[in-house]
Amino acid sequence: MRPEVQAELSPFLQTVAASTEAVLLLDYDGTLAPFRTQRDQAFPYPGVALVLQEIVRDCRTRVVVVSGRDASDVLPFLNIHPRPEVWGIHGLQRMKTDGSMEMPSLDDRTLDALSDADRWLGHQQLRHSAEFKAGSIAVHWRGMSEKDAKDLRARVMLGWGPIAEQSGLDLLEFDGGVEVRASEADKGEAVRTFLSEISPAVPVAYLGDDTTDEAAFLAMEGRGISVLVRPTWRETAARFWLKPPDELLDFLGLWLKTCVEHSASRRNSAKTVHTMDKGVR
Ligand SMILES: [Mg+2]
Repeated sequence: MRPEVQAELSPFLQTVAASTEAVLLLDYDGTLAPFRTQRDQAFPYPGVALVLQEIVRDCRTRVVVVSGRDASDVLPFLNIHPRPEVWGIHGLQRMKTDGSMEMPSLDDRTLDALSDADRWLGHQQLRHSAEFKAGSIAVHWRGMSEKDAKDLRARVMLGWGPIAEQSGLDLLEFDGGVEVRASEADKGEAVRTFLSEISPAVPVAYLGDDTTDEAAFLAMEGRGISVLVRPTWRETAARFWLKPPDELLDFLGLWLKTCVEHSASRRNSAKTVHTMDKGVR
């Protein structure tokens, strides 16, 4: 990791180590895992799942995934125990640690508009490039040539634009595609809800890569740290920028190391006090 970034992160990590609880809010695709054309092949960067497992076990840290994917899609990639909480579809779904799923019921207008968007894909013979989720449809063009991607983007914007406009659905571009979805779905809203449930004293970090993570970065302002994880820097509301996979692994490694060292020194000083007590008796 660049030394100046490490120096700036250090006070936050010390707070994490000294706290009785900490939270890591993590986007998945592009942040913990490299992009893959085949989305079911998007395994995390080597080492990431392992260090997260150790953080969960040794650092009194809650790991929470906040993804654009369906919530049940994410956990098999990470295989962390006990299972982390997952907010899916940009916060529209919430899968708790016991596996129970919370999902707001969608109104008829939203459902009608989503079936219109689906029908349009059918007419255009584009359903094969789409991902269907509860409350959302995404068209992906990752892996296509630049020209094909541009053409597909233009077509989808033209077809879905009016549907979104009339129904109040959100039409949002992300890295490698576009998505039409229920307007309640927003990572910023998810982060705000989550933060409202925990003590303001709990240190929290949010890591994400995409334009959809910007709302979450903004929601983190005044609370903990926000980190853009991306091979190249872009204009962002995040306070830090880390280059994956190396700097991401450095960051998670430092999280683990700082809290393990802190626990060890606490144990040692407890031992010293205990020995002194014995000496007095
Ligand atoms: Mg992402």
